[in-house]
Amino acid sequence: MSNTAIDLLNAADITDWHSEHDLLVVGFGAAGACAAIESSQAGNSVLVVERGSGIGGTTSLATGHFYLGGGTRVQLANGIEDSADEMFNYLMANTPNPDAEKIRCYADDSVSHFNWLVEQGVPFNDGFYRKKHYEQPTDECLIWSGNEKAWPYSQQAKPAPRGHKVEHPGSGGGAIVMQNLGETAKRLKVKFQFDAQVNGLIKNKAGRIVGLRYKSFGDTYYLRANKAVVIAAGGFSMNQAMVEEHCPQLNAESVWPQGTPYDDGSGIQLGLAAGGQAIHMSQVFLTSPFYPPESLVKGILVNQYGQRFINEDSYHSRSAAACIEQPNGIAYLICDNATFGRPELKLQELIDAWDTVEEMEQALALPTGTLQDTINDYNQYAELGKDPTQHKHADWLQPLNQPPFAALECSFQKSNYTGFTLGGLQVSKDAEVLDHHLQAITGLYAAGACASNIAQDGTGYSSGTCIGEATYFGRRAAKHAHQLTPTLP
Ligand SMILES: Cc1cc2nc3c(=O)[nH]c(=O)nc-3n(C[C@H](O)[C@H](O)[C@H](O)COP(=O)(O)OP(=O)(O)OC[C@H]3O[C@@H](n4cnc5c(N)ncnc54)[C@H](O)[C@@H]3O)c2cc1C
Repeated sequence: MSNTAIDLLNAADITDWHSEHDLLVVGFGAAGACAAIESSQAGNSVLVVERGSGIGGTTSLATGHFYLGGGTRVQLANGIEDSADEMFNYLMANTPNPDAEKIRCYADDSVSHFNWLVEQGVPFNDGFYRKKHYEQPTDECLIWSGNEKAWPYSQQAKPAPRGHKVEHPGSGGGAIVMQNLGETAKRLKVKFQFDAQVNGLIKNKAGRIVGLRYKSFGDTYYLRANKAVVIAAGGFSMNQAMVEEHCPQLNAESVWPQGTPYDDGSGIQLGLAAGGQAIHMSQVFLTSPFYPPESLVKGILVNQYGQRFINEDSYHSRSAAACIEQPNGIAYLICDNATFGRPELKLQELIDAWDTVEEMEQALALPTGTLQDTINDYNQYAELGKDPTQHKHADWLQPLNQPPFAALECSFQKSNYTGFTLGGLQVSKDAEVLDHHLQAITGLYAAGACASNIAQDGTGYSSGTCIGEATYFGRRAAKHAHQLTPTLP
């Protein structure tokens, strides 16, 4: 649990309000930044209460991908045909438990959201990185960042690349995003209270959230919200107890949970204390990219029975989820001399290489003949550019027939996985926190990693969905809150 008790307090009991603001925003990562900017631009006074000594949160650690489409400037510059409908179809097909209303507005508003981000100073160039990679090592913007070209999604929506990375070589673009959003917020006179840990919400007699409590250097303060409070306090990857309760696979020895120490679930706990509920808490983004080199996508993933189980051209967290689901979590990536390369991220060890598939089969203790049958079958169809069992795209089909044959360790317990939580508060499409009867708790909003929207699990994830939805639903929270009747004269 986070290190301070979290409470819901009654406004009538508060005698010493420290200050009053139209909107109070808890946390200044991607979601909080966009809520604060949007609200300030609408003329509201905004105070961000941030636990860190500076801005950024986990967003600052991110690559800086945004999942956006429907014909953005960058897509058009590269001759990519996309539409809001195709983006909607893809996200509906790819998300395990899709909320059509949210996905509809996210897809419909995607181009205008991209333009808004640019107006706020988030830089995207018109470059397009065309190789298969978990993140472009260049500063080019566009990349295929999900399962768009992978079966079965390629059949359900017209594929288009929608991963938009902020202009920055390789990883670390999230810091550029936050630096620019931070400057915009300061220019708009958004106020900041740093080193301030929010540990309580305050409701009035009618049940509306009208303020919050925070602690700073041992002192406690009460702030009054004239319109609303937006919780934008991140996920819970670093709260071992919450992880153990909801998604223990993230606590496994082979997993490196990513985030900042403040990803301790306090945002979710604030919402729960106010009567909200959390959903998809068992779901995580858990991955172990074996590409690049992209030649490895031409290899095959097999389980302890020597059988394939997934199209290897899937987005890396989809194939990782499939590996984890195999009996005993055992999975190997098999390739031949023509397709072998050392995984750049070094998450999978090379087990060994053998002159024949038969020898490999014995060394891996696979049932006799199984791997040989699998490879013979695969090769026979790969020659024809077909993959009738797993439907890997023809671009990645190549017979594995050049010895030596190598096996890379992809088993859950024996290779390295990394990830973060995806569950969060149940919210409406306008980011209102919903209670157990699915009624909005007036005056309370949540966005970003502490809320559950489109990103739900690794099988349906596309890079950029978290920051894309954090920024978008952060703005929707601010817009909706702007229309609320003020609580103060
Ligand atoms: C290494 C890495 C790379 C990633 N890359 C991408 C990517 O490229 N694209 C993508 O879409 N997603 C990516 N993700 C996921 C994504 O970064 C997060 O989901 C997203 O940044 C969350 O944004 P947020 O605004 O909700 O939270 P954060 O950015 O974490 O901001 C939350 C803020 O709230 C503050 N806070 C927390 N508790 C309190 C409290 N009680 N009181 C006051 N303040 C509080 C924190 O200090 C923090 O500043 C990545 C994640 C990791 C770990």
